[in-house]
Amino acid sequence: MPEQKAPLNKLNALILTTTPLLAVSVVPYYGYRVGYDGFEWSVFFLFMVLTGLAITAAYHRLWSHKAYEAHFLYRLFWAIWGACALQNSVLHWASDHRNHHRFVDRDDRDPYSAKRGFWFSHIGWILRKYDSGQDDFSNVKDLMADPVVRWQHKYYIYLAVVTNLVVPLLLGYWHGKLWGVVLLAGVLRLVLNHHFTFLINSLAHIWGGQSYADDHTARDNYLLAFFTYGEGFHNYHHRFQWDYRNGAKWWHFDPAKWVIKLSSWLGLSYGLKRPSNLKIEQAHLKVQYNRAKKAIAQSQASSHWIQRLEEGYQKLRLALEDLVAFQKQWVEVKHTQRKTHPERVVMKKRRAELKSNVKHRRREWRALRSEIAA
Ligand SMILES: [Zn+2]
Ligand SMILES: [Zn+2]
Repeated sequence: MPEQKAPLNKLNALILTTTPLLAVSVVPYYGYRVGYDGFEWSVFFLFMVLTGLAITAAYHRLWSHKAYEAHFLYRLFWAIWGACALQNSVLHWASDHRNHHRFVDRDDRDPYSAKRGFWFSHIGWILRKYDSGQDDFSNVKDLMADPVVRWQHKYYIYLAVVTNLVVPLLLGYWHGKLWGVVLLAGVLRLVLNHHFTFLINSLAHIWGGQSYADDHTARDNYLLAFFTYGEGFHNYHHRFQWDYRNGAKWWHFDPAKWVIKLSSWLGLSYGLKRPSNLKIEQAHLKVQYNRAKKAIAQSQASSHWIQRLEEGYQKLRLALEDLVAFQKQWVEVKHTQRKTHPERVVMKKRRAELKSNVKHRRREWRALRSEIAA
């Protein structure tokens, strides 16, 4: 007997089918017959960026992961723009997302498990009421303490209608062309914003590199980062989900990270969390080691290579561990003792030694890996 399909979520299905249909029919037709002007495109762009950042910087990094804290006005601003993104309330979104991280790739508990295929993880999970997608909010109790989150959840429908329809209509009316803003900043923006976000759950679990963890499907994808305000560095994100950044390198394209940082300078966000570069290196090293071990096993090289790999890996791993442990003491001493204090002087010397050891082991590890690859 064929498996019974999960019941359709009629409202979601209606929104997620009619808006793309309008975006590929009425939106271009209006453009052809009437045309869009600079004002309409500017509002489209503004809505695009603000709804995108509401999801990435606030729904995702602030509320779902608590990667930083923020001022009431900051939270209120993004809660309103988040409602405009029409991806459900913060509570629903964060509850699903926390389950996604906690049970990643587990078909029975990850609401958008990539193991169930592209379609399911992209949009299928929203169209039907699957058991894996049921929220009971038990994992977002902390967020219920936030009055902004409670308010947004209570008035979500009104906020969504006002921001998606009423505001674009008013702007169009004020501009003297009623429908242009609605079609661009309302319909087209909504569809693009939806699918750019959905790509994080689908494509970012299929296509890209795995530099920081290899025990789940999440990938780092530079192209996707460009369309998703920095969320394409998804392998890194699944490894360090509490980092306020997704692109950990300063040159990684991650506008959400820049907005959060900029807000901290203005006093609107604070307590920004991030791991040290050494911690990131430790994660990266583990993946390199696993990969090299696999390559040796596949090439059926002699056990001598396995032994060399193991030795090189352990040396760098321990050198990093020693330095990480030392850094904690060092930070404490640095804050409590003056520069000339004998204990601080000794520790400074020790720190230099540990650093030089790491450098040395890194060089050895690099050389060993290129030998294996050759
Ligand atoms: Zn993911
Ligand atoms: Zn996340």
